[in-house]
Amino acid sequence: MAKRKSKKTKEIRFEGLGVSPGIGIGEVHLRESGAVAVPEYSIPATKVDAELDRLKEALTRSRRQIGRLRSKAKALPGAAGDELEFLLEAYFQMLKDSRLVRGVEKRISKDRINAESAVQAEIAEIAESFTAMDDAYIAARLDDIREVANRLTRNLTKAPRMPMSIIPEGSVVVAETLTPADTAQLDPNHVTGIATMLGGAEGHTAIMARALGIPAVLGSPGLLGGTKAGDTIIVDGYAGRIIINPAAETVAKYENRRNKRQREQRSLARFKDLPAVTKDGTKIDLQANVELPVEMAMVNQAGAAGVGLLRTEFIFMNRDDIPDEEEQYQSLKVIIEAMGRRPVTVRTLDVGGDKAAEVLTSDYGDSASSALGLRGIRLSLVRDDILETQFRAILRAGVHGPVRILLPMVSTASEVRRARDVLERAARRLRRRKVKLPKELPPLGVMIEVPGAALSADALARSSDFFAIGSNDLTMYTLAIDRGDEQVAHLYDPLHPAVLRLIQFSAQAGLRAGIPVSICGEMAGDPRYLALLLGLGIRQLSMTASNIPRIKQRLRDLDLTAAERRAGVIMDQVDAGRIAMLLDDFNALA
Ligand code: PEP
Ligand code: MG
Repeated sequence: MAKRKSKKTKEIRFEGLGVSPGIGIGEVHLRESGAVAVPEYSIPATKVDAELDRLKEALTRSRRQIGRLRSKAKALPGAAGDELEFLLEAYFQMLKDSRLVRGVEKRISKDRINAESAVQAEIAEIAESFTAMDDAYIAARLDDIREVANRLTRNLTKAPRMPMSIIPEGSVVVAETLTPADTAQLDPNHVTGIATMLGGAEGHTAIMARALGIPAVLGSPGLLGGTKAGDTIIVDGYAGRIIINPAAETVAKYENRRNKRQREQRSLARFKDLPAVTKDGTKIDLQANVELPVEMAMVNQAGAAGVGLLRTEFIFMNRDDIPDEEEQYQSLKVIIEAMGRRPVTVRTLDVGGDKAAEVLTSDYGDSASSALGLRGIRLSLVRDDILETQFRAILRAGVHGPVRILLPMVSTASEVRRARDVLERAARRLRRRKVKLPKELPPLGVMIEVPGAALSADALARSSDFFAIGSNDLTMYTLAIDRGDEQVAHLYDPLHPAVLRLIQFSAQAGLRAGIPVSICGEMAGDPRYLALLLGLGIRQLSMTASNIPRIKQRLRDLDLTAAERRAGVIMDQVDAGRIAMLLDDFNALA
């Protein structure tokens, strides 16, 4: 861990959403701060309007970011909230009609230079005039203008300040927001925690932090201006608390807590080789969700019965090219071989929504970043060349161990049929190339994560070889709640009767059709929901590997007949609060 400072500074605490368990203690590494390197070039007269449009777009984007922070800051109690709101209001105004904006526009039009260098030139001039005033208040305002100019420049260049992969050891990454792609680049050996101002508990940033085992607190707006690079910081991912400049006794208390939790975690290791069976002897399949090959050590350590969900989209992120068949094959092979004879369920590309892969999504504008747009299978069917390449890589990798193929964001049976056609075409091409393939094509299944898919699960079961219920998106789309938006996080509830009915309906449709049904959303890894999910007929669960031991511990104590009975009672309820109570009571007794 990084060396801690001994100087006396006041301890400051912030609350947020604890989304990845664990205690992280380290030094603040600010993600978005300071100036970014900017390109400088001249623009021809014919391109001036386009450059002004680019500036306008970056201003809008910057105002939107400030707007999000501002509405979050309103929720902060007392003077801290007022002060923050006041500051953000000032930033917001500077991004509208200010000397800064007018000056930049003028430089683009008159000097015919690119927007980024116009911002730099304008800031240099403002700084010069302010410095001449030699006044502390004015100097502080200059810092604010610089802050705004830096945000504008970041939005113009769209480039992060420092690659996430070269963050020094012992750092806690503090950011306004982190994308799933940013998070995927973090090295868990270097990064001891994550703290952000925005972000919800069920988004892919949270999922990635959990997968990497990095303690994280998201959605804590007070952090803005509340910390600086190099401060000592504690991230308590259990309680959703962040402490800046902790006193020595606070650090000692958290170190103790961290060590105790680590001991508890280690003691769960005894479950690795015990069978995953209920108290009354029913075998349950506990599998792992995987995003990156680095997770494989944890998957094996947890004793996973297979990989129930491989999120392949992460190898398409943070790069300028699309991975070719060979690269995809090699990366799948590593994972399949690491699993030996245990099955690996490879999900095809699910970019879109909060999972951006610039190399693919930039061609489709807002549609590919919208939760309701070209996401998952929809994008894959538009770019069936990419889907076919992915299928070829999966088919080739399938000779190294059992694989299944899973399609994300399916809403109609015709999408499954079209995907199957592409799969068969991929197999034909490989056979023509005399490439070795598995004897039979792998089973082709669908994610049940769109309410329409759940409601027509009986029809989908006819064209699918298995179902994997994605309770994260199913909850989001059923309740119309963005899983990554911290402002509506309190409304996100998988125990809402509508969500449970869809899970039950799809599970029964799948089981009636005789196809395997698993659940691979975050619900699967939370012991609280286990009795209910088993009671609804689910016998396969896939989760972040580190949750497997806890789930197995709970499973081995659970009486399936009693769980089924309680699920029956729960499914007669119409109120999420009552459902939660009935479930928690059952868990407390069982
Ligand atoms: C889900 O939606 O529940 C799921 C497992 O998929 P993802 O979290 O990748 O969207
Ligand atoms: Mg999903």
